[in-house]
Amino acid sequence: MKKKKLIIFTDIGDTIIDEGTEVRNGQGVVIEADCIPGARTTAHALHDEGYTLVMVADGLTASFHNLMNLHGLSDLFSAWIISEEVGEEKPSSRMFESAMQALSLTEKDKSRIIMVGNNVRRDIRGANRFGIHSVLLDWSSRRSFEPECPEDVPTWRIHTPEELFPLAELIESQLEDGDD
Ligand SMILES: [Mg+2]
Repeated sequence: MKKKKLIIFTDIGDTIIDEGTEVRNGQGVVIEADCIPGARTTAHALHDEGYTLVMVADGLTASFHNLMNLHGLSDLFSAWIISEEVGEEKPSSRMFESAMQALSLTEKDKSRIIMVGNNVRRDIRGANRFGIHSVLLDWSSRRSFEPECPEDVPTWRIHTPEELFPLAELIESQLEDGDD
């Protein structure tokens, strides 16, 4: 299988996992939750197609291990970047820098990275400030998508996880045609 150029950073809560179904233990660790419809198959399809997936998520490490194991998603991610370990949450650049370092990426690679997330103030603002492309998944209505500043405007906007696959293919085709 040929590795794709495009690298996909992805949020988890309300991007892959439905936060409305979360069950937490006494320590605040999420012990179970449902996937958003289509998210699991899309993640597998992207991985199987040769795309690199990197988790960039705010929360507790134990929560993400529980959820990814529960849904058979653990092996899909080339790196797990979690705020509990980084010590800062998105939109902090440290989250994105950690993801870059984990994959030995450099400044010139930024043009082939997208950040997928549901949170305009964290995922979209953080990605845009960091200099990578952003994809807003607006499946959940839990948060406002209204931009507060120009950096809150996503490069692309999709409504369901399934839409990420054709978008990734489109971006990949443009990268292959491109000059880098
Ligand atoms: Mg989220």
